[in-house]
Amino acid sequence: SVAKKSDPGYTFYDPKFDHYSPRRLMLLGELRRAINNNDLCLYYQPKISFETGYIIGCEALVRWHHPKIGRIFPDEFVPLAERSGLIKPLSMWVLKEAPRQWEEWHKQGIDLSISVNLSVRDLFDSQIPEKIAKILDQHHMPPEMLILEITESAMMEDPQQARSILARLNDMGIKLAIDDFGTGYSSLAYLKNLPVDEIKIDKSFVMELDTDEDDATIVKSTIDLGHTLGLSVTAEGVEKSEGWDILMQLGCDYAQGYFMGRPLPVAEINQWFEESNWGMRAHAEGLKDIG
Ligand code: C2E
Ligand code: MG
Ligand code: MG
Ligand code: MG
Repeated sequence: SVAKKSDPGYTFYDPKFDHYSPRRLMLLGELRRAINNNDLCLYYQPKISFETGYIIGCEALVRWHHPKIGRIFPDEFVPLAERSGLIKPLSMWVLKEAPRQWEEWHKQGIDLSISVNLSVRDLFDSQIPEKIAKILDQHHMPPEMLILEITESAMMEDPQQARSILARLNDMGIKLAIDDFGTGYSSLAYLKNLPVDEIKIDKSFVMELDTDEDDATIVKSTIDLGHTLGLSVTAEGVEKSEGWDILMQLGCDYAQGYFMGRPLPVAEINQWFEESNWGMRAHAEGLKDIG
């Protein structure tokens, strides 16, 4: 009502401008214990190959199961971790858990790459390549099965530092992907000199691909650009079959999105492997047909 609008206490709630809300302060206070207590959990979202129509890998996406609040999404607590110095332990937790899960799947005959998201701060930990090498070793995980996803803006924050860490990871055989591609402001000249293997087109350009001509143009140019630079291209946010069809026509390499599969906890993704047309069993049968 008009009366309410003129009330100085009446404001729209936008968490971006509310760094110290009671909820944030509480979460901040509890995050360290959550990391140590294993209250974090990885969900896995399938990544599908356009060439075969089957799963080729999974992206690990962290969730926090809070005893009182329930499930909390990374968009809320990863920024808190980044600002409070807890991002290093958070990233290390993820970097240990994902290879452990890789090994468990590998023992079951399920061979998938696993993508893990890193933060800009992780690129300033000069020991991170050695830490990762040790974990891969522990789980007998080939380095090329691990894909590290880093956003454009993170890479641009300190290009020289980023380049040196990325070069060491690349030398180890680990794959590198630029996440949320198109939302940052990286220069092509700079991209060309980074040892990356993959770009992931941000979902904001993909979700409405079938109805928004500008999005379609951006996605097409990005795929062509990626291929010109020798990179593989993944589209995020494929929500409809129309999106899948257009991306296939445009020559995109891989897709993630709700149309194929949502991020799921391990028990549920295992079931998805069995039951989905894009999943594991289909893959095994497909390979039998071929050879
Ligand atoms: P991201 O790496 O770009 O991950 C993709 C996000 O898009 C995920 O959100 C996923 O659930 C969502 N998504 C996937 N398919 C679709 C779709 O078809 N439609 C729509 N609307 N959304 C889709 P999520 O899991 O909430 O993660 C959000 C962001 O949090 C991630 O974006 C990533 O930047 C960050 N994040 C997640 N896990 C970690 C982590 O372990 N460490 C760090 N540093 N960041 C993480
Ligand atoms: Mg990602
Ligand atoms: Mg993304
Ligand atoms: Mg993101």
